[in-house]
Amino acid sequence: MAKSPIYDLLIVGGGINGAGIARDAAGRGLKVLLCEQHDLASATSSASTKLIHGGLRYLEYFEFRLVREALIEREVLLRAAPHIIWPMTFVLPHARQLRPAWMVRLGLWLYDHLGGRERLPGSRGLDLTRDPLGGPLAGDVKRGFSYADCWVEDSRLVVLNALDARERGAEIRTRTRCVSARRRDGLWEMDLAPSGGEAAERIRARIMINAAGPWVSETLTSVASLNAKSAVRMIKGSHIVVPRLYDGEQSYILQNTDRRVVFLIPYEQRFTLIGTTDVPYDGDPAEARIADDETRYLCDAANRYLAQQIGPEDVIWSYAGVRPLYDDASENASAVTRDYVLDIDADDGAAPLLSVFGGKITTYRKLAEHALAKLSPWLEATGDPWTAEVSLPGGDMPDADFDAYLERFQGAHPWLPPALARRYLRAYGTRAERIVGRAAALDDLGEALGDGLYEAELRYLVDQEWAQTAEDILWRRSKLGLHCGAETRARLDDWIARRATAAAERIALP
Ligand SMILES: Cc1cc2nc3c(=O)[nH]c(=O)nc-3n(C[C@H](O)[C@H](O)[C@H](O)COP(=O)(O)OP(=O)(O)OC[C@H]3O[C@@H](n4cnc5c(N)ncnc54)[C@H](O)[C@@H]3O)c2cc1C
Repeated sequence: MAKSPIYDLLIVGGGINGAGIARDAAGRGLKVLLCEQHDLASATSSASTKLIHGGLRYLEYFEFRLVREALIEREVLLRAAPHIIWPMTFVLPHARQLRPAWMVRLGLWLYDHLGGRERLPGSRGLDLTRDPLGGPLAGDVKRGFSYADCWVEDSRLVVLNALDARERGAEIRTRTRCVSARRRDGLWEMDLAPSGGEAAERIRARIMINAAGPWVSETLTSVASLNAKSAVRMIKGSHIVVPRLYDGEQSYILQNTDRRVVFLIPYEQRFTLIGTTDVPYDGDPAEARIADDETRYLCDAANRYLAQQIGPEDVIWSYAGVRPLYDDASENASAVTRDYVLDIDADDGAAPLLSVFGGKITTYRKLAEHALAKLSPWLEATGDPWTAEVSLPGGDMPDADFDAYLERFQGAHPWLPPALARRYLRAYGTRAERIVGRAAALDDLGEALGDGLYEAELRYLVDQEWAQTAEDILWRRSKLGLHCGAETRARLDDWIARRATAAAERIALP
């Protein structure tokens, strides 16, 4: 195998933490390679509840450091990516038998004051018998509270970090698995293989970063043949999607009898997202699926509060993911810390290996900063933190004002149907201009596959965003899978097959 150039960092894992570290490091001038065994965000980072939130619930477990960092991140990330992140109002119906009102008020007071807040409104008490926000709730809930957090398109956040990393010089290899890693001559030597294939490339790097999420322990022991000092605690969480249960853009945070909370969130215009569960898990993280009793649990939680009742037969789609939490030996799955731990293995001057345990989508940017600060003794120069002030790709809208930018975009492209213009801007932000290009009519967007899917968007996703399969496009780069009919899917499969054939023929040409 030919010897590779020496990278500063080789990052294993293209979830939010790997992509975030790659972006931050590349922006500081480090030579970075990231490998992801499947598609970007194919594991936990596309299976979250999709909240950029402080985590009101974590205050009960005294996780003040985490909550403060996360609260501050809400507005930092909102400014950086106003297309895929937006404020959301949460309504907390008061359940006296579960938590006294003073306790909820104290929690919300802390939530309002722990982290700097400029754009997001503070919390307030609600009379749910009069307030329209109480409309969807069943009769006996009288009082409640509201507060604000943010929504994020989780898998798109990963792709935007990878995109920015690449534009700052990082190499991003998807469908590339790190099969083995060893220390040699003061460096890491790692073998990479195309998914499902034999090791084809040997890479050398000064530092290895293990951001393999639920596979973090396996990567330590099986890939790098090391003893793991820290362990991952795998906790499965599932969500269901049902037809929209109520009007309005507000979400509900429902207190459950087991003291957990379940969210109801307006989703993809026509649906309501309900989640999540907390179930200890020891199977293959890639095989995590919702179980029947989890579906029942989520329906029951919604039925306890909402006027409109639902059952498993209403579920249109579900997804499950595995939280790769740091094992702090808690007995209860809901009580395991959501904070992250960065573990460095570099005894006796050996080339360092940094492993990421735990963390939230919300805190990925700070996690990346902390990772680089921890690695600074082994790097010649790590520069200053920079990501707090710089937009993610497509997020460079004046004053981070999505609505004003949408109005301008629609004015510039009046032929685009309003729903499509909005969808493009929500997904791609200012980069929607690259998809639309010089088009002056829908026909100029190329082949129409149905359900608002045009070739110009597909080309962008394949050429710029590493999309290779229909699933990448329908479920991770977008959630068009919820909206597209069978015919559109068939045309998409056909389009991808034609493109792959054309690419193979180009390679075959002398
Ligand atoms: C149900 C649920 C709800 C959640 N809700 C929220 C929320 O609302 N807000 C929030 O902030 N956080 C939330 N989280 C937490 C958040 O989703 C995770 O902390 C985060 O996504 C973890 O990202 P990661 O990059 O560490 O792991 P992952 O996203 O799992 O990425 C790890 C990647 O490593 C790859 N990999 C593994 N081994 C190899 C190898 N040998 N070679 C190459 N690649 C490899 C995997 O394929 C995978 O893509 C939630 C989590 C769950 C499960």
